[in-house]
Amino acid sequence: MFDELIGNDRVKELLRRMLQSSRMPGAMLFSGEDGVGKKMFGLEIARALNCRAPQGVEACGSCPACKRTLKINYPAGDEADDFKGIIWTGHPDVGLVVAPKRVLLVHQMRAIESAANYRPFEGKARVFIVEDADKLNESSANALLKILEEPPPTSHIILLTSRPAWLLPTIRSRCQVIRFSPLAAAEIENYLTHNKVARAAEARVRARVARGSLRRALAADLDDFIEQRKAMLEVLEALARSDDRLQLLRSAEQLNEAQYKDEYEARLDVLETLIRDAWLLSLGADTETIVNDDVLPELSRMAKGLDSKRPAIWIGQIEEMREQLVVNINRKPATDALFLTMAAASATELPPKRRYIIK
Ligand SMILES: [Zn+2]
Repeated sequence: MFDELIGNDRVKELLRRMLQSSRMPGAMLFSGEDGVGKKMFGLEIARALNCRAPQGVEACGSCPACKRTLKINYPAGDEADDFKGIIWTGHPDVGLVVAPKRVLLVHQMRAIESAANYRPFEGKARVFIVEDADKLNESSANALLKILEEPPPTSHIILLTSRPAWLLPTIRSRCQVIRFSPLAAAEIENYLTHNKVARAAEARVRARVARGSLRRALAADLDDFIEQRKAMLEVLEALARSDDRLQLLRSAEQLNEAQYKDEYEARLDVLETLIRDAWLLSLGADTETIVNDDVLPELSRMAKGLDSKRPAIWIGQIEEMREQLVVNINRKPATDALFLTMAAASATELPPKRRYIIK
């Protein structure tokens, strides 16, 4: 079922319409960033075409044909020879081709041509997915063109790429091009929590560091997150408990250390989620609404006696500073100023708006 795949609803609709009209193209090019699910969509088409108990035009997902289609036996080693042919899935009509190294080989394209000319062994259609089609060189692209020109009606070839511009125009023009969008952070977050891949706090951060790619979300280093959150908890503690300015300046300094340069915005994200949690707790909200629920005891302690108007002010101040980050302010003094302004924020008196130093 397409609904089990993450994001790209527009593509799902398009593919459903193609299945309904029995007009699945023989040659397709899926273009879009790495890790947005292009291969899963390709395999889902294969499942829909070969399912033994289809639900409308879509795959049931549970018959043997559906299950075997998702079993991909990638070679265990990285010997180039292991990748030379077609890598068959558990279904004898569905296979993938992966470049052994930097280039997709003529030999591999000929293997597709030969296999595509057979009628399906078991299902109704044969599907071949070419990963990283931008790795075609001139000879392998020409070998592939032969089969793209006139694929047998029961065979479908799906090229995947994150760099469509690298493909020869002759290849692109023979394919129906389907563009995939980056995934929204909320889509990734829902997917991770729904499939119990990550708890709420972790899922939220993974979704944010993913920049539209589920693969990046899954690969993100969680140790980094834990370290970032520990540092930002110290900031919140200093703000909430004692307006400990020395600690705040130390934290500001750490935030600007070269080794954390790439994490700056991520750390501010984490700080905002912590402030929101403390805010909710100070208002007596249900603990189920807390994002960082695995550090609930620390958060509850900080939220105790916290005037609930202060977190709202803090978030406003962080957001204001972020707007200025866009125009290239000098981060170091801006961070010092931000933290000290936050410390000064009291419930009764809003601090004057700070203007940060522009480089
Ligand atoms: Zn099925």
